[in-house]
Amino acid sequence: MLLEGKVAIVTGGTRGIGMAIVKTFLDNGASVVLTGSRQATVDKAMSELTAYGDRVMGLCPDLGDAAQVADLVDQAVKKYGKLDIMVNNAGISARDSLYDYAPEDFDKILDVNLKSVFNGCQAAARVMKPQGGGVILNTSSMVSLYGQPSGCGYPTTKFAVNGLTRSLARELGRDHIRVNAVAPGVTRTDMVAALPKDVVERISAPIPLGRVGEPEEVANAFLFLASDLASYVTGEVLSVDGAAMT
Ligand code: NAD
Repeated sequence: MLLEGKVAIVTGGTRGIGMAIVKTFLDNGASVVLTGSRQATVDKAMSELTAYGDRVMGLCPDLGDAAQVADLVDQAVKKYGKLDIMVNNAGISARDSLYDYAPEDFDKILDVNLKSVFNGCQAAARVMKPQGGGVILNTSSMVSLYGQPSGCGYPTTKFAVNGLTRSLARELGRDHIRVNAVAPGVTRTDMVAALPKDVVERISAPIPLGRVGEPEEVANAFLFLASDLASYVTGEVLSVDGAAMT
């Protein structure tokens, strides 16, 4: 049990990679507060986790609002007594061409994928510093290394998440707060599962491991980085992408 007695928050924990992180952390002894964008999806996720009893709680704050993220952290501390691990995972993707990209959509992706991460890091660090330390983990993407040929807002936010991660690792190290990111490749979440078989085969073909990743494989990287096994790892962006090159 790598996380026995630890307390974690996982944003975007209602499905996909976030839900896999939530289950992996619970299975390793942690108590977890998960968040989703709507009460209905939070309720659905919670209904899948009844076996874990009181060790899991679900909330749906607006992650772009610093006050609501601070309240999320307060509620976790009130319920479980402390906060050891903050996972800033919630995110949305983008496909629009630059020529058609609506400015309000660019604002939205900055809010959901980047400002939410800043808010989560700030609120968590404010609690972790007086506690004597903690771990912050951010979900990046393989496109944070290569970019992508449309939907430029998405890689823009993920490049920024890497910058925030490396910078905060340098700033917060003295407070014993480790800050790392995980950069998944194509992962079998709802989005990928909905694609036709031939499209999945085409996406998988150039990946050296010959297949898309499973959410649990990504969650295992979060588990390692959250645990004391990674006690001297900070400022890293760990790729979990089968060596994909886009
Ligand atoms: P998903 O769509 O299955 O889940 C997204 C989660 O984020 C959900 O819990 C949802 O409630 C939450 N969310 C979405 N919009 C929100 C908002 N406005 N406010 C609050 N919460 C919101 O996605 P996923 O594939 O599991 O992706 C999770 C993370 O992994 C994202 O940051 C994504 O960019 C990243 N990622 C995914 C892949 C992939 O192939 N699936 C690859 C690289 C990176």
